[in-house]
Amino acid sequence: MKLPVERDQNMNRRQMIRVLSVGSMPVLMAGPRALAQTQGRKYELLLKGGRVIDPSQSFNAPADVAIAGGRIAAMARDISAAESERTVPVAGQIITPGLVDLHTHGFAGVSHWGVDLDQHCLARGVTTAIDAGTSGADSFDGFRRLVIESSRTRVLAFLNISRIGLIGQPGELVDTRMIDVASALRVAKAHADVIVGIKVRCSESYSGPNDLDAVRAARRVADQIGKPLMIHVGTPYSPMEQILELARPRDIVTHAFRRGGGGGVVGPDGRVSDYIRRASERGILFDVGHGSGSFSFAAAEAALKESFPPATISSDIHAYSALGPVFDLPTTMTKFLHLGLTLEKVVELATVAPARAIGTIGDMASLKPGSPADVAVFDLVQGDFSLVDSQGEIRKATQKLVPVLTLRRGTIP
Ligand SMILES: [Zn+2]
Repeated sequence: MKLPVERDQNMNRRQMIRVLSVGSMPVLMAGPRALAQTQGRKYELLLKGGRVIDPSQSFNAPADVAIAGGRIAAMARDISAAESERTVPVAGQIITPGLVDLHTHGFAGVSHWGVDLDQHCLARGVTTAIDAGTSGADSFDGFRRLVIESSRTRVLAFLNISRIGLIGQPGELVDTRMIDVASALRVAKAHADVIVGIKVRCSESYSGPNDLDAVRAARRVADQIGKPLMIHVGTPYSPMEQILELARPRDIVTHAFRRGGGGGVVGPDGRVSDYIRRASERGILFDVGHGSGSFSFAAAEAALKESFPPATISSDIHAYSALGPVFDLPTTMTKFLHLGLTLEKVVELATVAPARAIGTIGDMASLKPGSPADVAVFDLVQGDFSLVDSQGEIRKATQKLVPVLTLRRGTIP
């Protein structure tokens, strides 16, 4: 793989920014002295010669991006390398805000679903991973300590309305004693700085006949903390229409582009149902949440044909999807490129759109000067690629978005 970093002959070895490998991609590491010794230069790091796609600013053009103090310092057509301690040439590559994955599962070793988020997110261009309810009230202290505080990826979370979250089998909602408004509320308030909403799964296999009770309970908590619900749909016990009646504007329905008739936006007739359109019109967001069982090329294609794109593209990366069919968020984005969305659109749906969904825009998903320097660099590789959905359907694609470099706050500590 090409490493887009050259040595600057003017720098001594201690100032040298090292390229190390995390997973299969290089990440930049700067020693503390390198960043401390700016020696009068304006910037610590300059990404030079790339094409910037930053939907938060409706920007899609060649530009250089300069970083200082862990923040974006400047973005302009031509910034002189002489102004920066270090210059990374990225000609022919695409610079975007660090990706925001709205649906991931951390807590590896505690939850059977969990994966290491630094390996599966940060190393793949995702600087913010939103955990989708892997932990509930009984385990969130541990999730905070073991995942949020120990990851280099920025991790935020939806709290599961079930006390046990996704820690064990059988499903977390098959026993209604696990639905506990008071404990969820207590924990959501205690961790308000990292909990972005409440998660509830509506699948007969995980919630039995209790899905509506669980959504009502989750609704009460979400309303009291003023944050959205994330509703997982997957062949629910109750009719989807009834579940959606409990949803409010800004709530997120994930796994929405699953096979027709499975509870997603496409019904058994292969069409986007009227009640889905009405829900979308009143502000409910339909997210991808690919996962091992929840993305269908045919359903997504049918929805796009009816001008019903996803509101956000997320991976649902977990222990059963990381080795395929998901692999990572850029591969999920590539699937939508293949289905005809523009590159600018897929970047929007994996950066500023999820940031808006969780109300954190301004603090992430932008290369506007002053923003945290969470940045991803990609190659859009041309060739022959096989893409597989959750049904095992394979599509042949001619381009693929491949992450080559990720910066978190301007560096990787
Ligand atoms: Zn999930």
